[in-house]
Amino acid sequence: MELLTDGTENNPLLGFCLAVISRHSENWPPSEDVLAEEFVGWFGARTFLTKNAMRELCLLKGITLSFTPLPSGLHGFNCSFQDQKEIVISEHEMVPFAHVHTLFHEFREMLEHLFADLGHATLTPKQSLEAKAEEFAMIARMATVTRELPGYVEIVSNINKDWPRYFGYAFLVVCFVAYMFSCVSLPQFEDVISEARRQRYVRM
Ligand SMILES: [Zn+2]
Repeated sequence: MELLTDGTENNPLLGFCLAVISRHSENWPPSEDVLAEEFVGWFGARTFLTKNAMRELCLLKGITLSFTPLPSGLHGFNCSFQDQKEIVISEHEMVPFAHVHTLFHEFREMLEHLFADLGHATLTPKQSLEAKAEEFAMIARMATVTRELPGYVEIVSNINKDWPRYFGYAFLVVCFVAYMFSCVSLPQFEDVISEARRQRYVRM
């Protein structure tokens, strides 16, 4: 018996793109929110990820992830050759959660190349993939923490004593707002820090 395959068993990212196209072909292209929501669910993204956890999640999706020193200003890059896919991220993390942001950014670029190959590009030739990948990374981080929030609320709601529970809720709100702010402002923080370093370097 001949087994018919569509080539996605060795290429989970392609499988994901095909599934997204089939779910949203009537309304193509999907918004970045929809795409980010689809992606974080499929990828199993979590708010707090160590480098090892990121590597493992990528490996499950057929992608080799590595961290290495990169020239300043370069946060990461991705490359694909046939079914081999690789993401490289700068070892040095300038701002907390920058690694996760860069990972999502690189994924968005790989997704777009696959969508384009499948005749379903989400961008017009005039739109910048770089800018779209930045937007996607921000939204995907927000979508990740929003998915996890009910779990944290559940934990706090199980605190028996009233005041500790109120403080728990307040703490949760503060953390959630701070995290959302970090999602939006991460690229600006990176710009400010790299600019400050450049000036320090120039003065030496
Ligand atoms: Zn990029």
